[in-house]
Amino acid sequence: MLNLILCGPPGSGKGTQAAKLVEKYKLIHISTGDLFRREKKSNSLIWQEVQNHINKGELAPDSITFKLLKAEMDNTPDAVGFIFDGFPRNVNQAELLDKFLKEEENTSVSILLELQVPDKVIIDRILERGKTSGRVDDQKESIVQNRIDIYQSETAPVASYYEQFGKTKRLNGVGTMDEVFGRLSDELDAIRSLS
Ligand code: AMP
Repeated sequence: MLNLILCGPPGSGKGTQAAKLVEKYKLIHISTGDLFRREKKSNSLIWQEVQNHINKGELAPDSITFKLLKAEMDNTPDAVGFIFDGFPRNVNQAELLDKFLKEEENTSVSILLELQVPDKVIIDRILERGKTSGRVDDQKESIVQNRIDIYQSETAPVASYYEQFGKTKRLNGVGTMDEVFGRLSDELDAIRSLS
């Protein structure tokens, strides 16, 4: 299996790139942010539990997030691999994922690719997206800044965590969609040729 963690601050283009990677590599894309937005649509109990966190730009509790992720993975027993987008968001989630992949799926994380984009570029992109996305957390600069701060304090350490296993690659996330896709594909091709 090829299991990719696509990492990067909010607005770094993970979702867009994941969609292109799915087409090329036939992986299953799981975005925990999308899973929460699906819960929002049905105004489920899960949404009611997490909405305050999400609307403020804070992380949802690990246990709820992980439960949603596992349920989604269970839906695709024939997957040749996954793209985890927006997960793990902290080191605890990374440890939960590693344990689950090893014990229940007999596999592991293949690589973590981090898209690096300067804060200023991200803030402009997200506020622009917020004009049409309808996402409460995309509309206010202070909330966007909060999400970036949480990325730095909680999620960037996930890249360092996988670095100790030699699995982290940091890439320039600035450029056209095709340029960034080219950089990501080069890394995935390299790792596929090894396996
Ligand atoms: P995203 O679309 O990935 O930016 O996620 C939107 C929001 O959903 C985040 O700001 C968090 O509030 C929540 N969220 C998404 N993924 C996770 C996760 N792995 N752990 C905790 N909260 C998450």
